[in-house]
Amino acid sequence: MVRRGLQDHVAGRVVSRVEVMHPRAIRRHLPGTVDFGGRIAGRELVAARRRGKYLWVDLSSGEAVLAHLGMSGQMLVQPPGTPDEKHLRVRLTFADDGPELRFVDQRTFGGLSVEPVVTVDGVPLPAPIAHIARDPMDPAFDRTAAIAALRRRRTEVKRALLDQTLVSGIGNIYADEALWHARLHWARPTDALTPRKTGELLDAATAVMNAALDVGGTSFDALYVNINGQSGYFDRSLNAYGQEGLPCPRCGRAIQREPFMNRSSFSCPRCQPRPTTS
Ligand SMILES: [Zn+2]
Repeated sequence: MVRRGLQDHVAGRVVSRVEVMHPRAIRRHLPGTVDFGGRIAGRELVAARRRGKYLWVDLSSGEAVLAHLGMSGQMLVQPPGTPDEKHLRVRLTFADDGPELRFVDQRTFGGLSVEPVVTVDGVPLPAPIAHIARDPMDPAFDRTAAIAALRRRRTEVKRALLDQTLVSGIGNIYADEALWHARLHWARPTDALTPRKTGELLDAATAVMNAALDVGGTSFDALYVNINGQSGYFDRSLNAYGQEGLPCPRCGRAIQREPFMNRSSFSCPRCQPRPTTS
């Protein structure tokens, strides 16, 4: 959603000024604030792209502005003169005097940096994300190769699903929903899954991501917002994630929550039985 918003509102426009209100927001840009602004000001923002959780805008210089929204980052498009948001971190002003692009981040876990672009498998990518695998939305996504990569990892299936070097873009929420659809417990070992079952899981993840995209992304805690700050409402259609104690929409048994990698996994104890050996 954010990529679409950037493409619609800022692609093709020339940046006239860059203001960094909080240096932490560009901490990954090691040469610092002045260098960051100098590499963007005067350049055209050519196109907005995304792979997995990363978002970037190609610059007419051949470099790219890489953004990670973290937990609370937002990209806002605002008319000039709109009062600054409390957590405004970076502002781009454009030569056409049109709407500004603002990076707002309450917790400042996210950030921006200007990066060189490298080519991997014929695709130009910002250098720091060259190792990130294609995501299922990518037109060149290779489903068969992704199935093989997931099964080869020999770990718990949810860990493999979250591993961005195998397949990207699947976060904790989408993983829990996909596992629920495929009737798999998160701790099932990948090497015991058939290619067909693994494909079913991958297809479920893709379907969940497409459904989320259709309604504007997930917004269960109001931190995921689109380019204009409007929240999505995908959370209303979640089957497992965040549903602890509520009936499974398929069988009625109460959804359970289990600790997983400092977070939680939600599953149905009847539809998604825990593996007996692992
Ligand atoms: Zn169930």
